[in-house]
Amino acid sequence: MNQPHVRPLKLGVIGDPIAHSKSPVMHEAALRESGIAGEYAALHIKPDRLAEMIAAVREEEYRGINVTIPHKENVMRYLDELSEDARRIGAVNTIINEGGRLIGRNTDGIGYVRSLKEEAAAELEGRRIVVLGAGGAARGIIYALAAEAPERIVLLNRTTERAEALAREWSDLAEIAALPADRAAEALQGADIVINTTSVGMHPHVDDVPLDPALLRGGEIVSDLIYNPLETKLLRLAREKGCRVHGGLGMFVYQGAYAFEYWTGVPAPVEAMRAAVLRDMNAGATK
Ligand code: NAP
Repeated sequence: MNQPHVRPLKLGVIGDPIAHSKSPVMHEAALRESGIAGEYAALHIKPDRLAEMIAAVREEEYRGINVTIPHKENVMRYLDELSEDARRIGAVNTIINEGGRLIGRNTDGIGYVRSLKEEAAAELEGRRIVVLGAGGAARGIIYALAAEAPERIVLLNRTTERAEALAREWSDLAEIAALPADRAAEALQGADIVINTTSVGMHPHVDDVPLDPALLRGGEIVSDLIYNPLETKLLRLAREKGCRVHGGLGMFVYQGAYAFEYWTGVPAPVEAMRAAVLRDMNAGATK
């Protein structure tokens, strides 16, 4: 395979905080596995230094940057071009530097869908999908799910108005409806895939569940964006009920895989990336 880059690649992730990001170990493993010379740095950038940092990305010839909390929305104003999905989702998590021209993309949603299709549901066309939550992560994944021609997507959120606004905003993309959280039983009737995009169940609140598990029939695919813990209580209970379960680690790996592929032009070594993150998580757990 041709190696498109001869100089060492300069990559990184900007966020605040950033110390616990798993992106550096994941991308360093990807570079190593692919035989590409380069480095991937964790860059702690406070909001008041964002503009300065983006100027440095341009000038210091970073080939690519990942963007995480709290910069995903604010960074958009400093870029030269946005992909259609980043513009409509309203957030950028990946910047590609094309010779000083900065292009913003969003790989969270497509990363999630690639993970779901690889790991749990090869075909999404015609599926009935329920999404719990309507925050930033939900926006990315619903946008990407809509492109897969599901039969319908039903949104359930604690704040119903937020789900309703999202269903209205994207009514041109797919059959999307919003229901109040207290109508979960109705929403789940006939659902093929149930996806938790809320933070309920995330460490340290590992005993919380975003949905009454009694509402699951047992034949659905249940997916959770959370990857700390790797198996949330929702997933454990769903698995015990006979559901096929899908955790959030794959989304993290595949959003990084797309970014890596945009920057390098070579297929991402997904299994090496996943193994590096798991190793790092296990090392953290034993510290
Ligand atoms: P966000 O924008 O703050 O949205 C949070 C969502 O959770 C909202 O819908 C919120 O409902 C709901 N929520 C929060 N606390 C709740 C509670 N106690 N009861 C019911 N609903 C509650 O956050 P986000 O950026 O979308 O992230 C959401 C989750 O996705 C996090 O756990 C994050 O770790 C995970 N995530 C994973 C990946 C990955 O790579 N696997 C990537 C991104 C995010 P309201 O609208 O009512 O406030």
